[in-house]
Amino acid sequence: MKLERKDLESMPMLQGSDLDIVYGVLKDSPVKHVKAKEVFLKKNDPSKHMYLILEGKFDVHIETLEDPSIMTLKKGDSVGEIAMLDQKPRSAFIVAGEDSYLLEINKDIFWTLVNSSHAISVNLLLILSARLRGNNETITESLELQKKYRTSAIIDSLTGLNNRKWINETLPKLIERAKKSKKAFSIGMIDIDHFKKFNDTYGHQAGDFVLLNAAKTYKDNIRPTDFSARYGGEEFTLIFPDQTAEEANNAAERVRKALAALSLTTPTGIKLPQITISIGIAEHTKNETLEELIERADKALYEAKESGRNRVCLAKV
Ligand code: GH3
Ligand code: MG
Ligand code: MG
Repeated sequence: MKLERKDLESMPMLQGSDLDIVYGVLKDSPVKHVKAKEVFLKKNDPSKHMYLILEGKFDVHIETLEDPSIMTLKKGDSVGEIAMLDQKPRSAFIVAGEDSYLLEINKDIFWTLVNSSHAISVNLLLILSARLRGNNETITESLELQKKYRTSAIIDSLTGLNNRKWINETLPKLIERAKKSKKAFSIGMIDIDHFKKFNDTYGHQAGDFVLLNAAKTYKDNIRPTDFSARYGGEEFTLIFPDQTAEEANNAAERVRKALAALSLTTPTGIKLPQITISIGIAEHTKNETLEELIERADKALYEAKESGRNRVCLAKV
């Protein structure tokens, strides 16, 4: 295949320029044949040429070949012109979408073209700003995806409450805040009573249904400024920023009673027995680590279990 003058007419980079002059400059440049699916340019490769597509089309991949293509370049489009301007290695992978032909333009000829025509310089600016916008959109999209994945990493998929990872990341910050503002800070550890037996009797799915409803009950019975999170399995954590152990105890009692009063029927129509929980409450003391605070709340929870279950116990300081 050889360059013909009429090929130049549809090229955005050459619009408004004197095509006879341009044809004179370009007519001896080599034409490259690229087979379908062939990687024509690799990211980070040195760049000595730019190209004009005479026939066919190419997909552009920014980071890796596995990433989705951010755009398709078609007949008439230019390829690799950014590297001509900044002299840096290739910024993307260019892969042939079908059997294609390109005109290879070396650096000298590129600059001869740019210097020969104001229109070509303006076209290049337009092409570059379109590329920049395309890249920015891709980056914004990938940041949004990252944010979404981060959110799902801190949310428990069964109950929709925050999970252990969130607890570990957030509690130290909340404790720091309470310390600075010299306010109280309390937590409650919840464990469902005889839940193993419940699962054995009613099945794991009914157990999951209970967990979902329990989580909703916890959330509905604390203030909007308090938190409930799934610590793991059938254990949950209540977080009471700015509340003393006594205040947290009152809230925990409210939660305990609300759950015990719940009358649940599974989606398959099985009426479930009363579900009860035990709760251990601990108020943060000066210089206590998160682990120490949770350990004290756990001890109080153990006491609640030992003394008969379906109750709230306060941790010793
Ligand atoms: P206790 O009153 O002493 O707490 O008795 P328990 O049987 O509840 O004992 P424990 O807390 O040690 O048992 C936890 C049980 O919770 C074990 C498991 O069957 C159940 N469980 C934990 N995670 C899940 C879950 O995600 N779904 C269901 N359905 N059951 C779970
Ligand atoms: Mg347990
Ligand atoms: Mg239990």
